[in-house]
Amino acid sequence: PAKPFQTKLVLLGEAAVGKSSVVLRFVSNEFAENKEPTIGAAFLTQKCRLEDKVIKFEIWDTAGQERFHSLAPMYYRNAQASAVIYDVTKASSFEKAKSWVKELQRQANPNIIIALVGNKIDLLTSEAGVESASESNPASSEDAEEDDEDDEGTATATTGAAGASGETLRAVAKEEAKAYAEENELLFFETSAKTGDGVIEVFTEIAKKINPQ
Ligand code: GDP
Ligand code: MG
Repeated sequence: PAKPFQTKLVLLGEAAVGKSSVVLRFVSNEFAENKEPTIGAAFLTQKCRLEDKVIKFEIWDTAGQERFHSLAPMYYRNAQASAVIYDVTKASSFEKAKSWVKELQRQANPNIIIALVGNKIDLLTSEAGVESASESNPASSEDAEEDDEDDEGTATATTGAAGASGETLRAVAKEEAKAYAEENELLFFETSAKTGDGVIEVFTEIAKKINPQ
């Protein structure tokens, strides 16, 4: 293959959904159980080798807290690609992902490739009860409006939409997210930064859609 084609990619999503963990898995194949929150943004690079080309991703990993929201346009303005991440166990994070998608569609490069990524699938001990999980979890939708400043702190609290046995239930149905992605012409993935499931695919599929000039 020829020389790498550089692609700017920005990671967006609510605080604590696993943006930094997904990129750490992709770049170093590592996972840290207690990752410190990103301040401002972090920059990392990683190459993705396809049969016919090499894409060098220049990745801006942004902070998810609302107080950093106004910085986001600096990172997505010239981006060719974006991964918008949510936590499959936290409904409010999916609402936040949808609002990032809207913002990208309005303000980013019109040809930007957007991947919607549901992370933390390793926490799902059972795929049963998807419907009841979202109905019986009133906490998540309320939190979405109110925890602007410190969503960091509520992230783990709302994760436990679980039964007495302590298992974690899915708060965002895969079919719903997939349908939303199709309507909005987004790539769609579910991942676990912890186990590595699906992470390479996110970047490989984005790389395939990038057309070097
Ligand atoms: P960010 O704020 O979106 O960058 O999220 P981080 O990458 O800092 O992750 C927030 C917390 O979630 C950390 O404690 C991570 O260890 C944890 N985490 C991230 N990804 C996963 C995952 O796929 N599975 C599980 N179980 N925990 C995760
Ligand atoms: Mg981070």
